[in-house]
Amino acid sequence: MSHAPRTVAVGGDCPYLIHIGPGLLGVGDLLAGAIRGRHVLLVSDDTVAPLYLARVRAALLQARPDLAIGQYLIPAGEASKTLHHFGGAIDALATLGATRDACVLALGGGVVGDLAGFAAACWMRGVDCVQLPTTLLSMVDSSVGGKTAVDIAQGKNLVGAFHPPRAVIADTAALRTLPARELRAGLAEVIKYGCIRDPLFFQWLQAERDALLAGDDAALAQAIARSCEHKAEIVARDPLEKGERALLNLGHTFGHAIETAQGYGAPGNDNLNHGEAVAVGMVLAARLSAALGMAGADAADGLRDLLRAYGLPVAIPAGLDPGALLAHMRLDKKNIAGRLRLVLWRGIGRAEVVPDVDEAAVLAVLRAG
Ligand code: NAD
Ligand code: MG
Repeated sequence: MSHAPRTVAVGGDCPYLIHIGPGLLGVGDLLAGAIRGRHVLLVSDDTVAPLYLARVRAALLQARPDLAIGQYLIPAGEASKTLHHFGGAIDALATLGATRDACVLALGGGVVGDLAGFAAACWMRGVDCVQLPTTLLSMVDSSVGGKTAVDIAQGKNLVGAFHPPRAVIADTAALRTLPARELRAGLAEVIKYGCIRDPLFFQWLQAERDALLAGDDAALAQAIARSCEHKAEIVARDPLEKGERALLNLGHTFGHAIETAQGYGAPGNDNLNHGEAVAVGMVLAARLSAALGMAGADAADGLRDLLRAYGLPVAIPAGLDPGALLAHMRLDKKNIAGRLRLVLWRGIGRAEVVPDVDEAAVLAVLRAG
């Protein structure tokens, strides 16, 4: 496999390119090529900025010495995805004197990407945003598709906008500094694409486990590109999640219920992170599909074995009450008219939305863990 950068094109009304390869954060022409005007706001967090921000800034200025570059840094973590920091980013744009042709560069994981994207969506009713994702999760999921948001006390992602990026530049070398647990969480979302619509990719992930967990650039670039191709195809056809895009939520209704029941991981505790919760959620969705006669139990076992091989959890953490989990699932945004609407499957690579799932069957699967 070559180390030349790959590109994935996202079509639809607002087309853009995703560039994937090692070292791209230092390629000034690529970064500058996505910037139309003179004003750039770099948004990052206090973990990522010391690692990569100077490199991006230097590469940009080498290619475009005329740029005026401001920056806005947030403390790392979900707790910073707030209206407060949205306001901070907006203030930074104002201080910069950013005009309609300004560009917001989101350097970091999904927290930075969602926050910076939302600020870009709102400044002067919308300026360019270029995503520079540095976590695997943000490379394969949050940087693509144009959903931006911040959290409020009442819930995650409740305030936001659809605002597709102008470009996505994913430097696979940045993954070398990512904690192993974060890498595995991203791999859960990668495995999800195989489960939804690509059995060959699922097999490839079985074969390439060691390379991927070791952080091999070529294997990671392949996994990211394939994942982005899937997300790109789905969001181009259904940008506003009126139908097919819901498939991307495989494992997420169960996963969110686990995350909510755990109280959204205060730092330093043993709670599952998002990717881990999705891993458990996908196994539960597969088990429920088997219980409903949609798919064989062997498919669920195959998924469980693959996730386990990647070091991901496959069962509900001890101490979570099945009834409470079901109550959280009833509040999911996908539900219509009080009926549970879940993404289930007919086997590996064949996910589908099921509109009215029997709660007793769900509870039985939650009880079995
Ligand atoms: P994150 O942004 O919090 O990053 C995880 C941690 O890794 C942070 O502490 C960060 O500082 C650190 N980090 C990032 N890159 C690093 C690197 N290269 N080296 C070392 N450390 C690094 O979390 P995430 O998992 O990337 O994203 C989660 C967020 O994404 C959530 O807020 C979620 O709601 C959002 N999301 C959005 C979409 C969407 O479509 N917009 C989709 C999925 C998830
Ligand atoms: Mg997810």
